[in-house]
Amino acid sequence: MNVILLGPPGCGKGTQAARLKDKYGVIPLSTGDMLRAAVAAGTEVGKKAKAIMEAGQLVPDDVVVGVLAERIAKPDVQQSGFVLDGFPRTVAQAKALDDMMEKRGWKLDHIIELRVDEKALFARIDKRVRETVAAGGSVRADDNPDTLKKRITVYREQTQPILPYYARSSRLRQVDGMASIDEVTRQLEAIVGRA
Ligand code: ADP
Repeated sequence: MNVILLGPPGCGKGTQAARLKDKYGVIPLSTGDMLRAAVAAGTEVGKKAKAIMEAGQLVPDDVVVGVLAERIAKPDVQQSGFVLDGFPRTVAQAKALDDMMEKRGWKLDHIIELRVDEKALFARIDKRVRETVAAGGSVRADDNPDTLKKRITVYREQTQPILPYYARSSRLRQVDGMASIDEVTRQLEAIVGRA
């Protein structure tokens, strides 16, 4: 099974992707995590991505598509399918993904938007920062109110146009991302659990 979760920063994609993994065994693929790992490792990709991510902008399509293509070629994804979190983020990425899927003879089974009020996102990221600090972890360089504002604008301008792209082929479903974490999981399971 292959699933895409769409929605703005802080909408809960990562949390729900982990839950889908636990229940269905699908592999969570977060391009944000992959890029942060590349930055930490100081790879060529990481060098290209670092400043862009810190500014809340999008890393160029060809770079991100390359990172994702490499990851989905691995045996675990081939075997178990994926739940994508943070990709695609532009219509060009959505098209590149369609091409990749077609070449492999795979299909996208579920494309699901988590709908959340923009106002709630600031409080959620703030909570994530406080929890990270309390747990002794390191806070993401882009998890601050100014950069978050930028990330939300980028989402609205560059990522939201994906929604009509997928809606045209009637592949898009919505869940209420303002509901409790368990309720969102229940709604997602109601969609992906269907045969
Ligand atoms: P969030 O969903 O909280 O914004 P992510 O971890 O998904 O966080 O992404 C963090 C940053 O990584 C983004 O702001 C962007 O700079 C970069 N990034 C992640 N995925 C993509 C992508 N598909 N295309 C371009 N840039 C990306």
